[in-house]
Amino acid sequence: RAKQEGRNRYSFFSDDLEAALLQRHQQEKTLRAALKDNNILVYYQPKYDLVSERIVGAEALARLQGEDGEIISPAQFIPLAEESGLILELGEQVLYKACSEAKRLLYNGANIPISVNVAAAQFNSPELEQHVQKALSEYGLPSFMLELEITETALMIDPQLTKKKLDKLKSLGISISIDDFGTGYSSLSYLKTYNVDIMKIDMSFIKDMLSNKHDYEIVKTIISLGQSMGLHLVAEGVETRDQRRALIKLGCPTAQGYLYSPPVTAEQFLSLIKSEQ
Ligand code: C2E
Ligand code: MG
Ligand code: MG
Ligand code: MG
Repeated sequence: RAKQEGRNRYSFFSDDLEAALLQRHQQEKTLRAALKDNNILVYYQPKYDLVSERIVGAEALARLQGEDGEIISPAQFIPLAEESGLILELGEQVLYKACSEAKRLLYNGANIPISVNVAAAQFNSPELEQHVQKALSEYGLPSFMLELEITETALMIDPQLTKKKLDKLKSLGISISIDDFGTGYSSLSYLKTYNVDIMKIDMSFIKDMLSNKHDYEIVKTIISLGQSMGLHLVAEGVETRDQRRALIKLGCPTAQGYLYSPPVTAEQFLSLIKSEQ
């Protein structure tokens, strides 16, 4: 009997695993096809000045369109892209598309920067500077219109290399932001030597900042750390007006989050911009 249960259990897990592997395989196929056809979708989430509630920037966020038209979330395909080495090509495609979109915004009278996420492997690749330079020149985009978001974790992998890399990127005139701040293990002594402009407070702290005293203190501490280092601060995942009020009080000037807008298509983003003009 035990043997039979064991066998049943085994086959239960096996079916599960098989389904997961199949889905993974399917998504990798979809990802490869999208990369080949220059078909990675890029959505834009506006960043707002908390006081004036006007759009001051946007983050480019990759999306994948599945076989049956559904939109696949980056939570699923970014890890896949990282494991399969496709992340470099994906990052490049998003960078070019975001620069092209930034150019269109400029053409429409909106000189607000677009930020692009850079994966650790991409950041450490020797070709990143070249790609950035090429993307800027291809679209004749002024460098103040481009910002790169690099996670705190990626910045801490190899501090010496990071420092050199950031100096090179900064010499191109673009801005650098530390993404998901507070979730990695930052060494403050490295941090102070890094040439960065913006700190993005991870949304895991914003989420419960008004019900959890510890989260509130963490947000408060990150803001004062950022301020004392002369960095611009952006709160991620702001969903309520109470959070907005608290962040203003703590001195955080900028936010993105569902309170204002989810990530939207380039067309929808342009309409948002136009409705403000
Ligand atoms: P991230 O860079 O920290 O981006 C912010 C994520 O928070 C986005 O998820 C956004 O939709 C979500 N978000 C924004 N406001 C709210 C809110 O008020 N509530 C909640 N619950 N969520 C909010 P998304 O688009 O699913 O992207 C997830 C992650 O995938 C990104 O986190 C980033 O790490 C990665 N990613 C997305 N696009 C790219 C890309 O082109 N390249 C790389 N390397 N990573 C990317
Ligand atoms: Mg980001
Ligand atoms: Mg983030
Ligand atoms: Mg994140």
